[in-house]
Amino acid sequence: CGVYGVFGAPDAASFVALGLHALQHRGQEAAGVAAHEGEPNGFNIVRRLGHVRDSFTTAEVIKALPGRLALGHVRYSTAGAKGATAIRDVQPLYAEFAQGGFAIAHNGNIVNADALRAELIERGSIFQSSSDTECIVHLMARSIQRSAAERMKDALRRVEGAYSIIAMTRSKMIGVRDPLGVRPLVLGRAGDAWILSSESCALDIVGAEFVRDVAPGEMVIISDDGVESQFPFQPSKPRFCVFEYVYFSRPDSVIGGLSVYETRRRIGVELAREAPVEADLICPVPDSGTPAAIGYSQESGVPYAMGIIRNQYVGRTFIEPSEQIRNMGVRLKLNVNRAVVAGKRVVLVDDSVVRGTTSRKIKEMVLDAGAAEVHLRIASPPTTWPCFYGVDTPDKEKLLAATMSEEEMRDHLGVDSLRFVSLDGLYRACGVAEGRDDRAPQFCDACFSGDYPVAPSDRIAQGRLK
Ligand code: 5GP
Ligand code: SF4
Ligand code: MG
Repeated sequence: CGVYGVFGAPDAASFVALGLHALQHRGQEAAGVAAHEGEPNGFNIVRRLGHVRDSFTTAEVIKALPGRLALGHVRYSTAGAKGATAIRDVQPLYAEFAQGGFAIAHNGNIVNADALRAELIERGSIFQSSSDTECIVHLMARSIQRSAAERMKDALRRVEGAYSIIAMTRSKMIGVRDPLGVRPLVLGRAGDAWILSSESCALDIVGAEFVRDVAPGEMVIISDDGVESQFPFQPSKPRFCVFEYVYFSRPDSVIGGLSVYETRRRIGVELAREAPVEADLICPVPDSGTPAAIGYSQESGVPYAMGIIRNQYVGRTFIEPSEQIRNMGVRLKLNVNRAVVAGKRVVLVDDSVVRGTTSRKIKEMVLDAGAAEVHLRIASPPTTWPCFYGVDTPDKEKLLAATMSEEEMRDHLGVDSLRFVSLDGLYRACGVAEGRDDRAPQFCDACFSGDYPVAPSDRIAQGRLK
C-alpha cells in the first residue's frame, strides 16, 4: 500500500490526490482520502474502489474534502478479507475518541493482528472491518492517555510487524515507522506545508522538496509549531525491505539514501558478473526488469534492446488478486517485438520469479517469435518464503522456487539457462560492499532467506508457517 499526508496547505486534499497518483503502483484496488476543515464541519472522508484517477480527479470530490490537513491511502490487500476489496476495508479508517476525530492510513502488515483482534473482541471491541489496521484504533481507544500520539504509542507497543503509518487529528499529523523500518516513509516540505509520503517520487509531483526519511522507530508529530521527533520504541537494528529496491518502489524514488533506479541497475551489473552468457541481446521484461537489464547490458557489453513491449494501459499483474486474471494479464500486458528477437540469442532480465507465470509465458512468446535461444536472468534471489510484512506473496507451496531446484525451474520454464542474483550480490547492489551479515542482516530479506526479523506470530499460532 501507499500512504500520503499533507499538513498546512490550502486544499490539502488536492495535494494528497496528486501524491496518491504518484503512489498508484503501491496499490490499485482502492483509494481513500480524509481531510479536516476546522470546526464545526470537521472531518470528511471519501473512500472508493479502483484507481486514483477514477475517483480523485474531479473537482466535486476535492470540494467534498476541504481543509489544510489531509491524508490518503492506496490499497492492495495483504491482510484481512482476500479477494474483492470491501469498501469497509478501504483506508483511511476513522474513529472518534473523547478528544476528537482521528484518521489513520497504514502501509505494512501486523503479524499478531488475529490475536489482538480476538483479545479486543473478547473485551468488548466492535470491529467494523477485516483490516489489521483497525486493531490499532481499538488499542488506542483503550489507552488511558489523552493525546492521540500518546495513545498511538501505547497501541503500537502491542503491535508486531511492519508499519509505516500516517494519522491525523484536527490539529496534528503523525507519521511513524515500525522499529525495524521495514516499509518506507519520507518527510517533505512544500512552502509552509509538510508532507509525509511512502516514497519520495510523490514529493516531486507536488513540487515539494525531500527533507529526510522518517527513521526506523521514529514518530514525527507535525503541528503548527513544526515537526517534533520522538523514538518511542526500544532501539533495534533497522531491517528495511530489500524487495522495495528490487521491485516494489518506483525507480525515481530515493530510499535510505539510495536511488532505487541506480540500485536496480547495479543488481544487473552484479548479475552480469555472477552469471554471464554468450548472447546477442539483453531484453528486459518491462517495466520491472528494465533497470537491471540496462545494468546487465552495460556490464556485459551485450546490446540492450526492447524485445518485449509493454502495454502502458495495463497495471501490475501481480497486484490483481485473482489467479485467472493474472494469467491472462501477461499477454494483455506484454507482447514480443518480433523484428528485434527473431534469430537472436536473447537474455531476458526480470526482477523476480514468484509463481513463474510471467517467465513461462514470456519465454514461450519469445521462442514463438523466432528467437534462437532464451536465457533468463533474475534480479533477485529465488523467492522461497512468503512475506508477512505487506507484500502479497502467495503461500509457500505456490512459490516456484520453494518447490523446485534451480535446474527443475529451468526445465519447467523451458529456458536455455536460468540464473538468479546471489543474496550477497543483491546486498552489494544495495550499497553493502561486504555483502550480507548473516548474524545481523542489514535488510529484511525473509522472502529469499526465510530469516524473518519479526516472528509471524499469528501464522505460527495457526500452524501455517511451514
Ligand atoms: P510470477 O509471474 O512469477 O508469478 O511473478 C513474477 C512477476 O510478478 C515479475 O515480473 C514481477 O515483476 C512481479 N512480482 C514482483 N513481486 C511480486 C510479488 O511479491 N508477488 C507476485 N505475485 N508477483 C510479483
Ligand atoms: Fe520485503 Fe521480502 Fe521482507 Fe516482505 S519478506 S518485507 S517482501 S524483504
Ligand atoms: Mg514484472
